[in-house]
Amino acid sequence: MTTIWGWGAQRRVDCDVRTPATPAELPRLIRREGTLGRGLGRSYGDAALNEGRRVIDMTRLDRYVSFDPQTGRLTCEAGVSLEAIIRDFAPRGWFPAITPGTKFVTIGGCIANDVHGKAHHAQGTFVTCVESMKVLVADGRIVTASRDQHADLFWASFGGMGLLGLIVEATIRLRRVETTYFKQKTIVAKDLEHMLDALAEHDATSPYSVAWLDPMATGAKLGKGVLTVGDHASLAELPAGLQAEPLRVFPPGKLVVPFQLPELTLNPLTMRVVNTVIEGVLRKGGAFNHAEGFFYPLDAIGDWNRGYGKRGFIQYQFVVPFDDGRAVLRRLLETIVSAGQLPFLNVLKRFGPANEAHLSFPMAGYTFAIDFPVRDGLTDLTGRLDGMVADAGGRIYLGKDSFLGAAPFKRMYRRLGEWLEVKRKWDPDGVFTSDLGRRLELC
Ligand SMILES: Cc1cc2nc3c(=O)[nH]c(=O)nc-3n(C[C@H](O)[C@H](O)[C@H](O)COP(=O)(O)OP(=O)(O)OC[C@H]3O[C@@H](n4cnc5c(N)ncnc54)[C@H](O)[C@@H]3O)c2cc1C
Repeated sequence: MTTIWGWGAQRRVDCDVRTPATPAELPRLIRREGTLGRGLGRSYGDAALNEGRRVIDMTRLDRYVSFDPQTGRLTCEAGVSLEAIIRDFAPRGWFPAITPGTKFVTIGGCIANDVHGKAHHAQGTFVTCVESMKVLVADGRIVTASRDQHADLFWASFGGMGLLGLIVEATIRLRRVETTYFKQKTIVAKDLEHMLDALAEHDATSPYSVAWLDPMATGAKLGKGVLTVGDHASLAELPAGLQAEPLRVFPPGKLVVPFQLPELTLNPLTMRVVNTVIEGVLRKGGAFNHAEGFFYPLDAIGDWNRGYGKRGFIQYQFVVPFDDGRAVLRRLLETIVSAGQLPFLNVLKRFGPANEAHLSFPMAGYTFAIDFPVRDGLTDLTGRLDGMVADAGGRIYLGKDSFLGAAPFKRMYRRLGEWLEVKRKWDPDGVFTSDLGRRLELC
C-alpha cells in the first residue's frame, strides 16, 4: 500500500498503487473489488483516491501517437500532461485549446473532470476539443467513444470522475497560436455591482476573463477587486522586444515550498498580507503577459499546496444561475466573509451554457472558487453553503470538492439518474470506484 492524497492534502489514504509503463499492462491491473485511474493528483479532494483499493497511476502512459501539423489534431496516451503539450507543441505554434489554471494535469484528468478555463463563456469545457477516446471498460474491452460511437460512454465520461473505465488514449484538437503571449487589461472594481457589470461588459468582447475579490472587504465594499481580461496576442501586436521569440516557452519554475508549513503561519494577519500582495500584483499587470503568468501564476511555485499547513486546505467552487444570481452571490459572499474562517485565494467568473455531459460542472451563471485552510468549523460553513447553492439551483465542482454529501449532490446534479444508467450499462458490477464515488453514491 502507498499513502497518497489530493492536492488539498486534507486526507491521506493507503491505496494499492500501480504505475504501468505500457497500455498492454492495464487489463491485468484491473481489480474487480475496486479500481481507479489517477493522473497528476491535482484534484483537491478525494476524486483520485480509492482507499484500500487499486489506483492506477496513468502518468507513465505519456506517449504521443500521432500529430497532424495542418489541423492540430493530436492523438496521445491519457497520461500526457498539458505541461508536456505546451513544451513540445507551443514552439511550433500550437497550444492546448482549453486549459485549467494549472498545466500539471493529464488528458485523462481533464476529461474526467471536464475541466474549464478562463474562457468558458466563449469556448466551453474540455469536451469541445476532444474528438474521441479509447476507454478500457469493466468487461476488459478497449472501446472507442466519440460523439458518433458509444456516445453515451463519451458524454458520461466528461465529469464522470474516472468511474466508467480507464481512459487510455484520446484524440484532441490543439489551438493554433502566433505567440505564447496575451494582451491583457485590468479593471479595478469598487464593489460587487461594479464587478458584475464589468464582467458582463467584458465577456461580450474578451474571450478570457477572471476576477479576484478582496476577501477582507465587507459591507458596502463587498465584492471589490480586480478583473483581468485578455486574448491571445498576434505576432503583429507584440511589442518589438518580444517579437524575436514570439513562441517562447519557459521551463517549470525552480521555486518550491520545501515542506508543510506549520499551521500558525496561517492567521488573519498572513491572510491580510497575502491578499494585499495579490491586489498589488494584479493592479500593476502590464499590457502583455506570457501564457505562464496569464494562465498558470500558481505553477511558478512548486508544491505551493504545502504552504497551507499540515491539516491541508480545500477549494470550494460553486456556480449559481444568472436568474437572481446577483442576490444569491451576495448572500454567499456575505456568509463566506463573516464565517470566521480564513478565506485565501479566490476567483470569480461568468460561465457560458452547460453542455450535454451529464455531470459536467459549468452552467450559465456566476462561478466563485475560494481556498480555505482546514480549521475547526470549516465543514459547518461548507454545509451551509452547499444548502444555499442547491436552493439556488446551482452546484459545486467535484474536481475541487472534499465534503459534499450525497443528498445535496443529488439536488445539484439533476441528470444524475441518466448518468447512473450509463454507469450500470458499462460497469454493472461496480469495478471502478473512488472515495468521492462512495461519498456521493456514484459507485
Ligand atoms: C492550481 C490549480 C488550478 C486549477 N484550476 C482549474 C480550473 O481553472 N478549471 C478546472 O476545471 N479545474 C482546475 N483545477 C482542477 C484540475 O484541473 C482537475 O482536478 C484535473 O482533473 C486534474 O487532473 P489530474 O491529471 O491531476 O487528475 P487527478 O486529479 O489525478 O484525477 C482527477 C480525476 O480524473 C480521473 N482520472 C485521471 N486520469 C484518468 C484516466 N486516465 N482514466 C480515467 N480516469 C482518470 C481520476 O480518477 C479522478 O477522478 C485546478 C487545480 C489546481 C491544483
